[in-house]
Amino acid sequence: MLRTHNCGELRIDDTGKQVTLCGWMHRSRDLGGMTFIDLRDRYGITQLAFNMETDAQLCQQARSTGREYVLKVMGQVTERSNKNPKMPTGDVEIIVSELQVLNESQTPPFTIEEETDGGDELRMKYRYLDIRREVVRRNLELRHKMALETRKYLHGQDFIEVETPVLIKSTPEGARDFVVPSRMHAGQFYALPQSPQTFKQLLMVGGLDRYFQIVKCFRDEDLRADRQPEFTQIDCEMSFVTRDDVLDTFEGLARHLFKVVKGVENIRFDRISYQEAMKYYGSDKPDTRFGMRIVDLNGLAKDHGFQVFDQAELVAGICAEGCAGYSRKQLDALIEWVRRPQVGAKGLVYVKYNEDGSFKSSVDKFFGQERLKSWADAFDAVPGDLLLIMAGEADATRKAMGELRLEMGKRLELRDPNTYACLWVTDFPLLEWDGEAQRYHAMHHPFTSPLKEDIPLLGKDPGRVRANAYDMVINGVEIGGGSIRIFDRPLQEMMFEALGFTPEEAKKQFGFLMSAFQYGAPPHGGVAFGFDRWCALFGGSETIRDYIAFPKNNAGRDVMIDSPSPIDPGQLRELHLKTI
Ligand code: ASP
Repeated sequence: MLRTHNCGELRIDDTGKQVTLCGWMHRSRDLGGMTFIDLRDRYGITQLAFNMETDAQLCQQARSTGREYVLKVMGQVTERSNKNPKMPTGDVEIIVSELQVLNESQTPPFTIEEETDGGDELRMKYRYLDIRREVVRRNLELRHKMALETRKYLHGQDFIEVETPVLIKSTPEGARDFVVPSRMHAGQFYALPQSPQTFKQLLMVGGLDRYFQIVKCFRDEDLRADRQPEFTQIDCEMSFVTRDDVLDTFEGLARHLFKVVKGVENIRFDRISYQEAMKYYGSDKPDTRFGMRIVDLNGLAKDHGFQVFDQAELVAGICAEGCAGYSRKQLDALIEWVRRPQVGAKGLVYVKYNEDGSFKSSVDKFFGQERLKSWADAFDAVPGDLLLIMAGEADATRKAMGELRLEMGKRLELRDPNTYACLWVTDFPLLEWDGEAQRYHAMHHPFTSPLKEDIPLLGKDPGRVRANAYDMVINGVEIGGGSIRIFDRPLQEMMFEALGFTPEEAKKQFGFLMSAFQYGAPPHGGVAFGFDRWCALFGGSETIRDYIAFPKNNAGRDVMIDSPSPIDPGQLRELHLKTI
């Protein structure tokens, strides 16, 4: 080794030792007769001291080193007179006797500090410098720990990690596939997996019983903030299980990760159905760190001559505790907020439950005090609270209410980052209607089993069939999802039919799976977690990019290696592709 110690490990007990350290010149200070250098590596920072009086030449040499120069120093560990309690190595410094510049560096385009002066794009272009920053390094360490502990837990539960292929065949799983042209087979293409879904099911047919894989997946989706075209899943599958077996097993994984990575114990999981989640929270991934449930007011608000309510399919609201004091200006701002296209509500009715027990609302013309009191009771409101009510088409109103609920939760600081509300949302609809294509799509994927009691509906009223599917949601973030699978051929055929596949199309796309199902496929089910997102959640960030060593930007570009990029005409010809 070029060094005897790293830059994070020397303590007061090491005083007197002769040591050799290597690292980067983080910063230097010249204080008259003394020069100090902070030497940095992955493990920390150690202060180096150079004395002009005792060795002017060495001190000059130290002064001539620039930021990010790579240095090797020899010297003696000495107690610092001016200790720095903020640094683990802050009790000591190295009185340097020899300094070697291992490499010079250009001045970096941004400062290698916790709060850097580099913007996003610049940091991504020079990601290798960004990674030298402690924050980024800590994020990668967290990710490493999450992966390691995931493996430990699942190994302990008899799961085995199996690699599935990356060059596969296009499978319709919602998003578009990335495709790879084949040189050897003119005009033919591989696809990159959106997930190893069919392979993990085939591993169950293969009798592996419990599979997992921490695996890259690829989806060529339209740009959305914080989406990465390639991302990582913890992908899992189990045989001979019911839904609750799967949920219990992965609650165990979550509990393990919470404990060893976050130091949080006693994590509890709630289970609610999709239908309840939509009804009470206006979202299929509710943030249940706070209540503020949506209350249905149809029975109490309609038929009082207020057209907006009378014509609406749904009148519903939430109760913002302690907000009756909101000013006209604050209320107007809230109305503006719900009218933004992202929320899409037409308007907002408010009812102030004043401290003196009276009511003041924006619909006083239509509703008397007594009526407003009956609304307040429906919300369990108390004087000082503010009711916020919307009306319109049911689904859209619930969703808009859900957005407003989150916003009010944020404004009232009810979304505490140190609290974790975990739940499973179950019984998703099996199919969703695509108005444009005039056909049903699988909400999860075509291998998801319907709930047994809903199978008879598949032929009659497919839109009402519920799936044996579930999502894990933590603090309003969808961390993962999965389902119990269809494992017999006739039901799978029915499902393809409901999805509008002709038997020929189904055979062409999924013949391999259908064949496999004829050879004794076990009942099975599984789940996949968004690993990047889970890391971000544990790291306390909303940006998954911060937890990926070399991420793409929001336009799907890698600005460091400059990809995607054109390829040369010769390469195109070889791949049997025409130049554009
Ligand atoms: N393959 C699914 C997905 O990527 C997860 C699963 O059903 O296991 O969402």
